[in-house]
Formats: sequence, C-alpha cells, structure tokens
Amino acid sequence: MEKIIGNLRKNGFAVTEFDTAEAAADYLAGSIHGKTVGMGGSATLGALGVYDRLKADNTVYWHAVDNGPDVCDREVNAQVFLTSANAVSEEGYILNIDGRGNRLAASAMRKERVIFVIGENKFCGPFPQALERARNVAGPLNAKRLHKNTPCAVDGVCHDCHSPDRICNALLVLWGKPMWCGSMEVVLIHQDLGF
Ligand code: SF4
Repeated sequence: MEKIIGNLRKNGFAVTEFDTAEAAADYLAGSIHGKTVGMGGSATLGALGVYDRLKADNTVYWHAVDNGPDVCDREVNAQVFLTSANAVSEEGYILNIDGRGNRLAASAMRKERVIFVIGENKFCGPFPQALERARNVAGPLNAKRLHKNTPCAVDGVCHDCHSPDRICNALLVLWGKPMWCGSMEVVLIHQDLGF
C-alpha cells in the first residue's frame, strides 16, 4: 500500500487517508463549501452519504438521485467533481470504465478539484491486474447492482458483450494529474467499499 501511495503522489495526486467511511465523509463535508459539485455514479459515494451532507451548503448534481435530462452535463461542468475508481494500479494509475463516459469526461477536464474516494479493496498490483479488476470484477458487479440486462449480471463474468445495456464502453487511465486540473486527490479509506 505504501508503494502505491508513494507512486500516486509522484504522479501528481494528493492522497489523504482515513480509517473509516464516516471520517472520510466528515472530511469531505468540512472541506467543500459554496461550490457546484458533480458526483459520478458510485456505490462508495452512496455508502458515505455525502450527497445529503454536501447539499447543505453547495449546489450538488448527482444522477443517482436526480435523473433530469441535463444532470450529467451539470456534473461534468461543476467546479468540484467526486467519484470513486474501479481500480488503482501499483504504479499509481487510476482506472475507471464507463458506459456513458460522463464520469470519465468530468474526471479529466479542467476543474478546481477532482476527488476520488476509494476503498482499499480497489488497490491492485501492476497495471494489468488493475485492468483485470476494472473489467472483470467491477464491471460485472456494477452491472448487477444497476440491474442491467447483460450476461455478466447473471453469472458474474465479463463476456465482452454487445448488449444495449453494456456499461463498459470507455476506459480512462489517469497516469498523472491532467495539466489544467486544479487539484486531484485520492481519499483513501482503509475499508472495503464499493465495487
Ligand atoms: S459482459 Fe458486458 S456489461 Fe458486463 S462487464 Fe462485460 S462488457 Fe461490461
């Protein structure tokens, strides 16, 4: 774990560590005020309950609770963006796979602050192992969670399907913090969280 944290920092990502989801939620609620905030689809963020806490003094967009036609656009264009990750590699790369691409776009474009809230179960070995996790562990589990009509939601195995419900259409690998992003931070929680 220490090696991965060191590599994340070398790659330009700040890393903040917490022992519990509650402590991480307190940190997020205490450090984001008066901003537009977008949230990506994430079981981890749901488990933290940060949406309701951030709404108290921010304008928060999250398609998990408001599926209006332009919510994803507002998420992408917010000042601050929160999401999780499907995997983090030993080299300190952050991987996410998306069906629509909104989470990937929001993670990579100019922002004041991008925060990846990640349970330690997402931390992997070298890049091929992280990619394997993103495709063959996170993908099927998320398809099942979202009640998608895909073969992986039935048997828990990726079939590289061509279903209209396929949730794996784009991959973003952040090798480092993109130039125009103000800050990118990994909030590492030493618990198993999300998929
Ligand atoms: S079966 Fe389809 S939806 Fe499921 S993980 Fe594979 S590509 Fe993604």
